Amino acid sequence: MGPPGAGKGTQAKILATKFNLRHLSTGDILREEIRNQSEIGLDAQKFMDAGNLVPDDILLTMMENKLTELNKHGIILDGFPRTIPQAEGLSIIFKNLNSKIDYVINIDVEENALISRLIERAKNSGRADDTKEVIIKRQQVYRQLTEPLIKYYSNEIIQVDGDGTIEEVTRRILQRIN
Ligand code: AMP
Repeated sequence: MGPPGAGKGTQAKILATKFNLRHLSTGDILREEIRNQSEIGLDAQKFMDAGNLVPDDILLTMMENKLTELNKHGIILDGFPRTIPQAEGLSIIFKNLNSKIDYVINIDVEENALISRLIERAKNSGRADDTKEVIIKRQQVYRQLTEPLIKYYSNEIIQVDGDGTIEEVTRRILQRIN
């Protein structure tokens, strides 16, 4: 977990390689659905382009299918859950699959640094949601709907400072997990 621009995707890929996990990024999956002009993609696009979250029922159906398909594998979730209803839904999905969460890692970076990072990334990302207005909107949506998950997972959450080089942040994460 972490706000947009904290480095979730980068760190998730590194951890997936190191621990042989399947990396499931809901942002990447949704962008792929949009490229394929699928039903999910067509439903999701207007929310994503505006910097809003895609409705929980779409995410939960999509992730239930993916997680059921990958149930035999270790998984790292990147960008999901992003709301309390998604976290509650995930808990039910995992209960039904006889699976569980081992670690919840939150990468945090101060908001002004995040906005500068994202504006820099926007130069090459080609993402429709990487304009300055939408970048700011995504931070607001994060604070309102996703940040409450820190409290929701307060018993198990590992807080990592995301300010630093990619290698430094990876080292901080590895120090905190077995
Ligand atoms: P990301 O690549 O993680 O920054 O996600 C890009 C966009 O995809 C977000 O701004 C949302 O519109 C959408 N999205 C990704 N994950 C979720 C999620 N778990 N719930 C709702 N919308 C999501």
